[in-house]
Amino acid sequence: MQNVPELFGSMVFNDKVMKAHLPRDVYRSLKNTIQRGAPLDLDVANVVATCMKDWAVSKGATHFTHWFQPMTGVTAEKHDSFISPCGDGGVIMDFSGKELVKGEPDASSFPSGGLRATFEARGYTAWDPTSYAFIKDDTLCIPTAFCSYTGQVLDKKTPLLRSMEALSRQAVRVLALFGKKACRVTATIGPEQEYFLINKQDYACRPDLILTGRTLVGAPAPKGQEMEDHYFGSLRPRVKVFMADLDEELWKLGILAKTEHNEVAPCQHEMAPIFATANIATDANQLTMEVMKKVADRHGFACLLHEKPFEGVNGSGKHNNWSMSTEKGENLLDPGSTPAENTQFLLFLTAVIKAVDDFQDLLRISVASAGNDHRLGANEAPPAIVSVYVGDELQAVIDCLIEGTPCRPNAPTVLDTGAVVLPNLPRDTSDRNRTSPFAFTGNKFEFRMPGSSFNIACTNVMLNTAVADALAQYADELEGSADFQKDLLTLIRRELAAHQRILFNGNGYGEEWPVEAARRGLCNFRTTPEALVHYTDEKNVALFARHGIYTREEIASRQEILLDEYGKAIRIEALTLLDLVRQQIAPACIKYANGLAAGVSAKKALGIEAPAEAALTGKVSALTGEMLAAADSLDACVAAMPQDVTELARYCADKVLPAMAAVRTPADKLEQTVDRTLWPLPTYSDMLFYV
Ligand code: ADP
Ligand code: MG
Repeated sequence: MQNVPELFGSMVFNDKVMKAHLPRDVYRSLKNTIQRGAPLDLDVANVVATCMKDWAVSKGATHFTHWFQPMTGVTAEKHDSFISPCGDGGVIMDFSGKELVKGEPDASSFPSGGLRATFEARGYTAWDPTSYAFIKDDTLCIPTAFCSYTGQVLDKKTPLLRSMEALSRQAVRVLALFGKKACRVTATIGPEQEYFLINKQDYACRPDLILTGRTLVGAPAPKGQEMEDHYFGSLRPRVKVFMADLDEELWKLGILAKTEHNEVAPCQHEMAPIFATANIATDANQLTMEVMKKVADRHGFACLLHEKPFEGVNGSGKHNNWSMSTEKGENLLDPGSTPAENTQFLLFLTAVIKAVDDFQDLLRISVASAGNDHRLGANEAPPAIVSVYVGDELQAVIDCLIEGTPCRPNAPTVLDTGAVVLPNLPRDTSDRNRTSPFAFTGNKFEFRMPGSSFNIACTNVMLNTAVADALAQYADELEGSADFQKDLLTLIRRELAAHQRILFNGNGYGEEWPVEAARRGLCNFRTTPEALVHYTDEKNVALFARHGIYTREEIASRQEILLDEYGKAIRIEALTLLDLVRQQIAPACIKYANGLAAGVSAKKALGIEAPAEAALTGKVSALTGEMLAAADSLDACVAAMPQDVTELARYCADKVLPAMAAVRTPADKLEQTVDRTLWPLPTYSDMLFYV
């Protein structure tokens, strides 16, 4: 491999490149825009565009695109070449400031949830200078926000940027209370990405994987993950080569790929990057998913990012590590070692606890999808109930604070001078409760509910905004306080007491937890439709309005898009399953039974009894009949789908998914019965234990 520091970011128009290529005043002006959001004038944009183009062309680029993140959750791009006729029959490579700053991709076919009709569909993309441009497949990609002609948000990036602003605004106010002059506080994110790799040939033979991302039939392999021999196990040589190639591709794009390892399920792996600002981490994660798929293909693999590709083995998630940091690099969730900083830490910690408690529903909504519903609460990922894990040590401090008692000597102590003393929390002792959806891990929180295929923007919009809201309330209350230390402690005590119910350090997989959670009044939305209806609850609309993130219409449109997406995903699954069963599985079963029956008759004619074959014929015929009857019911169920998106989503959860399960049960029994050479699909053993 090439020298890594040299390779790293070689396809990115980053600060180093800008500094080297831009005239000094232009560079300064652009930096001002990046760091302080100052508007960029067109002259500057023109110079930046020309520089960017020259740099991109020198790296082999021929096209540019405004790269954006519509509500589909995947990224979108429309390529334009740099060519411009120059009068003598030839062309020059040209790129203007106007083209850099604003695009008009039209893009009327993206979901807008009723925000725009196609006749007034013009959508605009606007350059986001806080995320670097990069080259991918000979195309200069310019990260952009996407909105409608009337300025309504149509993408995932715009609200994320707004929520980061809101968080910064309020956190800066709170820091000022502690005498700190911060200009900016940024949400920092490290998303750990899980995925499966299977052989491309197997993937190509599974229409369910191709069309829906998950296997809709498939009997369990004789071996699953029970031996726990895959987790952190040594890598298959082919996978190792894939990971090295993946790292190299990600590094070129300036993505801080750091850790690669095998996960719990067979064929399951994880990549964790070093954290970055929420905006950059989100863009990088979107790119990571795309690059993973491309690199996998080069190595004869298919990369599966669905939350539940295989029944009976763990699905994939994406752990969203989250914290806040000042421009000087102070991590606000780091417990620190001096008393003053500790009260500051405690206040930020309290704000996060309050935020998660007040907006549990929004966090659940941010991870709601047809795919993720298979994981949450299935004893492999956190339950659908949102709670916060702080670990025993921090819990002891919180308990003492609430009770107003000094802590035991060996535990962190509260002094009666009013100053809270926390010893330096030994990092990494608190975590390791893998069942918690939202765990404090020493100097950050890890939100473990997002699904592996998700765009993490939505989750972080919810988190940033909810924490901003809590901080705003605290700043309102404490600004102008006559006795800050005293009022601060009173507030922390009161707030921790008020939000105790969200703290849970026990086993999130235990049967008692949902009962206990219900007693505490916590939300438990087991399915996506149950969760999504709460998006437009008054308190949520008010939250987003207060911080200028979404209007009521924008929330309603998001709710509609997500409900619609859920219904469509399940409809596609149902139709795919029907095709599979009727066109591939049933014919194979019938062929097998016919062969058996012919053998039984032939033996009978010779006077040979064949009770085993006869019984087997009967079994296969009966199961085939059961499967086809269930398919007919599923067909009828699909035909009766309601139109309204809310009703449809509920109907899918309550009626269609059980109807699909009724088809799968006999199909999987048949797979375990029918001649292996006749079975039309690669099995779980084939896919998960390839050599
Ligand atoms: P753990 O062992 O608890 O999983 P790691 O140190 O391996 O912790 O980090 C896991 C992820 O958390 C990595 O992606 C890392 O970059 C990220 N992370 C670490 N510190 C922060 C922070 N301050 N803010 C956001 N993410 C962070
Ligand atoms: Mg982790």
